[in-house]
Amino acid sequence: MDTQMTGQCLVCGKETKNRCSSCAKAGIDLFFCSPEHQKLAWSMHRMFCGLGKANPFRWPPLSPDEVRDAIEMLDTSDQPGRLDEVSYTLAQKLLSALNVSRDDLPAFIRLLSKPSTLPLEIEAVVLRSIRLHVSVRREFAGRSSNEGQRLEPMLFLISLAFASDVYRIPSSWTTSYMHRLAVYTAVRYGDEQALQRYGQQMIRSTFQYLDDMARDDPANAAKAVNGLRMFLPQR
Ligand SMILES: [Zn+2]
Ligand SMILES: [Zn+2]
Repeated sequence: MDTQMTGQCLVCGKETKNRCSSCAKAGIDLFFCSPEHQKLAWSMHRMFCGLGKANPFRWPPLSPDEVRDAIEMLDTSDQPGRLDEVSYTLAQKLLSALNVSRDDLPAFIRLLSKPSTLPLEIEAVVLRSIRLHVSVRREFAGRSSNEGQRLEPMLFLISLAFASDVYRIPSSWTTSYMHRLAVYTAVRYGDEQALQRYGQQMIRSTFQYLDDMARDDPANAAKAVNGLRMFLPQR
């Protein structure tokens, strides 16, 4: 008997049997009703698609530019213009999360150009610290341009994840949750018409997903709901 599973398209919400095949091989069902809707998600989803990336959800390694800038900016403040007790250098932030010495940080950062052997929640925090720091410093130095535009969606997604507190939630539902946010981010930054058409539906179904997760994990789902509300108002 054919008991093929269906699910809701992550873009339009339509019931469908079509899933991302690379992600299915990684053991997670991410439904897209059509190649068109998969394509709307692709600018972000490609970074989190398939084995080693999709399940559990894993942030991409640093680009060569990010490695270079991070090493160069290790001792700069995260609040350009000040270096005091309320601002932190990138080195200070990394050392608070890692058990390495200051002298080892450049070599450590170079290793982050490939998937690391760190626990995933530590890897996520470290990559987040580096990306945010580098982007703030680049903007301060007035050199965003193309690289800045490319990074903006990634920084938005990082902010959503951070606000939702998912780094500290050791739970399997956060993987599907992050994929939803990545698809939403792709549409938000990629296609004005699709955003008009599907944006509210995507936000509603993400909150619905959190409501469903709240049955098993109420405290953490509530944290995610509160964080998400700051960024994605529901109509
Ligand atoms: Zn669809
Ligand atoms: Zn995929």
